[in-house]
Amino acid sequence: MSDIKFNCPKCQRPMVADEQVRFHTLICPDCHHLFFPIAKDLPKTAPFMPPPPSAARLLDVQKQSAGLHHLAGILSRVGLGAAALGMLVCFLAVIGGDERTAVISAGSGLGAGAFLYLVAQLIHIRASVLNLEK
Ligand SMILES: [Zn+2]
Repeated sequence: MSDIKFNCPKCQRPMVADEQVRFHTLICPDCHHLFFPIAKDLPKTAPFMPPPPSAARLLDVQKQSAGLHHLAGILSRVGLGAAALGMLVCFLAVIGGDERTAVISAGSGLGAGAFLYLVAQLIHIRASVLNLEK
């Protein structure tokens, strides 16, 4: 015979008794509450409980969110690169005395950079919201 552990449902007094007590009513020695003992550690014959389906979904969401954050990181770096390239071309054009090229390259470089950076931030936000929704 193995012992089972249980608490008094009223005063939570921990108790240990033979498995047989499961089929009897007990009286708590402390608070004199009458109750059926419910084992804390379930017997080994307990049916296997599959993990709730939300656990699998949670993993998916975390993966998706991490992927989105990664993508956003790449986008913002490309945006930074575009802005830097635009400024470089602008600088060279100014040295060469070509104002028109300088304005166009600075404008398009900064514009593209800002746009990519903005998109990256939106993706970051979306990924964070995904994490919150779990
Ligand atoms: Zn009790």
